[in-house]
Amino acid sequence: MTYKDTAAKQAAGKEYYLKHKEKILERNKKRYQEKREIILTQQKEYNEKNKEYLTAYRTEWNQKNPDKAKIISERAKKKRRQNPEKYAHDLAKSAQWRRKQKIDLMNAYGGECTCCGEQNIDFLTIDHVHGGGCAHKKSLGSYGAGGHFYAWLKIQGYPQTGEFQCLCYNCNCGRNHDPEGICPHQRAKQEPNGEEQQ
Ligand SMILES: [Zn+2]
Ligand SMILES: [Zn+2]
Repeated sequence: MTYKDTAAKQAAGKEYYLKHKEKILERNKKRYQEKREIILTQQKEYNEKNKEYLTAYRTEWNQKNPDKAKIISERAKKKRRQNPEKYAHDLAKSAQWRRKQKIDLMNAYGGECTCCGEQNIDFLTIDHVHGGGCAHKKSLGSYGAGGHFYAWLKIQGYPQTGEFQCLCYNCNCGRNHDPEGICPHQRAKQEPNGEEQQ
């Protein structure tokens, strides 16, 4: 089929659709209602199976179409305001998703602070061993934030290249404040009187 044929066919299809729009919409609605459960299950299965691809596709699309993405997000915001119960439900669901991402991630990186051994997941974070964490996350666009960064690491197969490590917030902060990026815990070990000397 040549391009011209395809275009003609599309035009004819569109004309037919416009002519019988109401009938078609009515028929689709009826079909949807009859098979709602099946369709929703299939859709859910498809989304689940292609989650990573779909997220990547959406991220790329949003970056390429910032104006349209803004309109869509405004529309979604309005919808959320109109249905606060559903919004609360969605929020709970995304919190659940973030939690799952974090559990998987921390397990993949040893499940405890590499420095002090802290195991409480609420105290744990992921550390860029060689620094540059902020710039790296920024370069990932919407993958750089929170649970999405965790998901990004999952897509990369949780690299065990020594680039990332599990640290607690305390040790992470301690490392950030140190000119050489060494946690005060480790400094204290290196210099036995380090803590008292100030
Ligand atoms: Zn620690
Ligand atoms: Zn430490």
